[in-house]
Amino acid sequence: MQRPLAIFGGTFDPIHNAHLRVAWEASEALDADVRLLPASVPPHRDQPVADARQRAALVRAALVGQARLTLDTRELQREGPSYTIDTLLELRAEMGEARPLVLLVGADAFAGLTTWHRWRELFDHAHIGVLTRPGHDGAALPTELRTKIASRRCADAASLRESAAGRVLPIAVTPLEISASTVRAILASGREPRWLVPDALFADPALLAPYRTRA
Ligand code: ATP
Repeated sequence: MQRPLAIFGGTFDPIHNAHLRVAWEASEALDADVRLLPASVPPHRDQPVADARQRAALVRAALVGQARLTLDTRELQREGPSYTIDTLLELRAEMGEARPLVLLVGADAFAGLTTWHRWRELFDHAHIGVLTRPGHDGAALPTELRTKIASRRCADAASLRESAAGRVLPIAVTPLEISASTVRAILASGREPRWLVPDALFADPALLAPYRTRA
């Protein structure tokens, strides 16, 4: 079985060190390459402060110099909302049927999975890696989701190599209390989010400029 490919989506408005740390820990836990996919029109969220091109530039700058985490801009290039099911179908068509594909989602997002577009089909095309933060109890799962995953749960990363899709694995990640909202608030108030975002984001003043003025 081939090495898994994992995908980690988000608004990344802007990308910060907790995103990077989580993606890195998942990459190590799964021995997988991880693609970061900025979402263009997140169906569940307010519109981002920075536009698609600016957020992609931030992710690109954050990832310079290492190979295991890469930027995938497909959701920014697509018209309309970024539905995960469409992304999985596209990736599956590119990768073929055999390679394990792992959708990484935070425990809170996972608890809301039944609100996602065509959520039941997600399991047909990918495994789901649920990013759990020790000490943070995830939200309770709705009955329908509990039933759906009952026979899919697994406890070790090796299980995800036995098939291309369909399993659910908790992945413990280090809790880091950083959020994009905090980074935006710091920038909007004229301060610097040093050590909350990678140094590379300060190298070009244009990168964080969208957040420096209040909307
Ligand atoms: P905002 O503050 O604007 O809500 P955010 O920091 O949560 O943004 P997103 O782009 O919404 O950033 O997050 C993308 C993914 O990263 C989500 O799956 C989210 O659960 C995860 N994530 C965000 N912050 C952290 C964190 N501090 N630790 C672990 N995972 C995180």
